[in-house]
Amino acid sequence: MTTDQLPTDKPGRLTVLSGPSGVGKSTVVATLRREHPDVWLSVSATTRHPRPGERDGVHYYFVTRDQFMAMVEDGMLLEWADYAGNLYGTPRAPVERRLAAGQHALLEIDLSGARQVRAAKPDALLVFLAPPSREHLFERLSGRGTEDEETVRRRLELAEVELAAVDEFDVVIVNDTVQNACERLVGLLESPTTAHR
Ligand code: ADP
Ligand code: 5GP
Repeated sequence: MTTDQLPTDKPGRLTVLSGPSGVGKSTVVATLRREHPDVWLSVSATTRHPRPGERDGVHYYFVTRDQFMAMVEDGMLLEWADYAGNLYGTPRAPVERRLAAGQHALLEIDLSGARQVRAAKPDALLVFLAPPSREHLFERLSGRGTEDEETVRRRLELAEVELAAVDEFDVVIVNDTVQNACERLVGLLESPTTAHR
């Protein structure tokens, strides 16, 4: 059974992929998009500018700050957050439509967004993408060499706090290799129950 063929007499399952900054969420999702185009992934709205290769309506809806705040005020976002100075949010209607039709929906969002989804949709399955070790995360965070020492120190402090959030999640997927993490995520989406909780 593919995840698009869940019976419609059951509510669909909402799955949230989150985890500390720099753990590899967007890398895993890029592989998922490429290798499992059948998996439905929510397209977030954001005020950040598109990166090369990113397409409006595919990777994000790129909006102005005014447009974003209008969406917030109109209750159009399931959750939203300020991440590194840009706003990001999950459009509510497409997710609700999927769930009402008994289909799965996958969100890839930051930790504060995951907490908001937990509050709004207690049945959602929250998946924490974890690094193989603290050292791996610190390496991925500081290894770029583009930030000054103070910025790296602040990022590492934040990473400690973010790692502690693992206890709030239902399932942990270790991002040892991107391929493994992606396959485990797909396995979760395809499993018929939420027995992981
Ligand atoms: P996030 O979206 O969680 O902030 P990214 O996807 O931007 O994280 O990944 C952060 C860095 O870690 C990138 O340089 C990425 O190439 C690298 N990375 C991601 N997954 C792995 C992995 N399994 N092994 C090694 N490096 C990884
Ligand atoms: P990026 O700018 O690298 O694409 O994303 C930055 C961060 O924003 C990532 O941690 C990503 O998970 C998070 N993010 C993307 N979309 C959303 C969203 O709709 N809501 C929230 N809360 N976070 C998001």
